[in-house]
Amino acid sequence: MGEVNRVAVIGAGPVGLAAAAHLLERGLDPVVLEAGPADGHAMRQWSHVRLFSPWGYNVDKAAGRLLASTGWNSPDPDAYPTGGELVERYLAPLATRTVLKHHIRTTARVTGIGRVGFDKVKTAGRADAPFELRYRNGAGDETLLADAVIDASGTWFSPNPAGASGLPAIGEAAAKDRIAYGMPDVLGARRASYAGRVVAVLGAGHSAAGTLIDLAALAREVPETRIIWLLRGADPAKSFGGGANDKLSARGAVGLMLADLVASGALRVETGFRVTGIEPMERGLRIAATMAGDARGVVVDELIVATGFRPDLGFLSELRLGLDPALECPPALAPLIDPNEHSCGTVRPHGALELAQPEPNFYFAGMKSYGRAPTFLMLTGYEQVRSIAAELAGDPAAARRVDLVLPETGVCNVTSSAPAGGCCGGPPKEDVSACCAVDEMAKQAGAGGCAAQTGGCGPKS
Ligand SMILES: Cc1cc2nc3c(=O)[nH]c(=O)nc-3n(C[C@H](O)[C@H](O)[C@H](O)COP(=O)(O)OP(=O)(O)OC[C@H]3O[C@@H](n4cnc5c(N)ncnc54)[C@H](O)[C@@H]3O)c2cc1C
Repeated sequence: MGEVNRVAVIGAGPVGLAAAAHLLERGLDPVVLEAGPADGHAMRQWSHVRLFSPWGYNVDKAAGRLLASTGWNSPDPDAYPTGGELVERYLAPLATRTVLKHHIRTTARVTGIGRVGFDKVKTAGRADAPFELRYRNGAGDETLLADAVIDASGTWFSPNPAGASGLPAIGEAAAKDRIAYGMPDVLGARRASYAGRVVAVLGAGHSAAGTLIDLAALAREVPETRIIWLLRGADPAKSFGGGANDKLSARGAVGLMLADLVASGALRVETGFRVTGIEPMERGLRIAATMAGDARGVVVDELIVATGFRPDLGFLSELRLGLDPALECPPALAPLIDPNEHSCGTVRPHGALELAQPEPNFYFAGMKSYGRAPTFLMLTGYEQVRSIAAELAGDPAAARRVDLVLPETGVCNVTSSAPAGGCCGGPPKEDVSACCAVDEMAKQAGAGGCAAQTGGCGPKS
């Protein structure tokens, strides 16, 4: 492999911009390609959502140094911004007022990546060929050549469908006018769609919880509003999270508020509801669920689907990727974040080593690096790109050093055999493939991990 100079970064979200800042510090030449018209395009879609991590967790160190050189007034590290405030006070100044502005191309959607002169099958000499990125802007198709690529394009624009099998429910596409994905602004821009209506929210994660809490606030203002929480699982309590044990206290508070709403009867809760079909009706939708031959249904005006996100791998089909078959993330990361194995938001910091792909000098970073797993934190992404930039600059020692202690998000069901010291006994000491101390102990004892050994760090279903 030749020396790296130009690095293409896909996406001008918080992690893509942090990557560019670290690459610049390392003397490399980043080019950020952003599909949207401005930085933070994905975050601008959920600008009304208040983050559960305070400013102190949300600013990358290299990005902070670039901003400091412009006289930036850094926010209170203990305050919680909304997505919109994070864009306005951090991402936009970073992208438009620092030297990064010369390295960003907006309205530039990457549509394909290959190696110059090599199709996917051809091996000899492949690693020395530059990457060829195709991207589309107002003028048509353009090409960028780069020595390395960091894909930080997130997952916001590829939400999971409502269908319980991972496929869209029958009729889902035809009903799209009455379905919103992710976290619509139910108290603001989209209020008219939900005030006084019957609204179903499908999902069990933080996005569903946040939307249900906002809808309950709307129902207090407009009492005709009815809220139905549709859950695929059997137990709503699994969505209440770590509560007071969550070191990200704002995230714990969301779970506690949701628990109160359920207890007060403010929401109608339908558990074990696995959506199979959505039928548009004259007024509203009929959402059907079938389980073991037992057909059920609810009739609503609007449906909000908050079932998580998946990575868009379509534009990467000419690259040699190694991905976990379930999570679609780099394989070394999967045991750390697999929601089947454990529910900890506590993830060991990791970098270039764990994120490396069979295609040399190609890395996933940020939200997309977690594939379909739901527990990503910006802070994790900042450490990823610090490490990747060091690796690309030829400093493997710095790439392997861990510069970060992540907050424990105490949402595990720790069994009595787990050692004390935090979620699942705290992070592993030695084993890179272990998610926590319990998992490491179990693997060293020859078992398949803590879930197999002890009954689990978290829910199995
Ligand atoms: C509602 C919500 C709340 C969250 N709250 C928190 C929180 O409180 N704390 C926390 O740490 N994390 C939080 N996260 C998780 C995560 O940190 C954020 O999603 C964060 O925005 C991820 O940053 P990113 O740079 O990886 O991706 P994104 O912010 O999604 O940025 C990706 C960028 O890539 C662009 N893009 C996509 N496809 C292409 C393409 N083909 N070509 C070019 N550009 C492309 C997009 O337009 C976008 O601008 C939250 C996530 C969500 C959805």
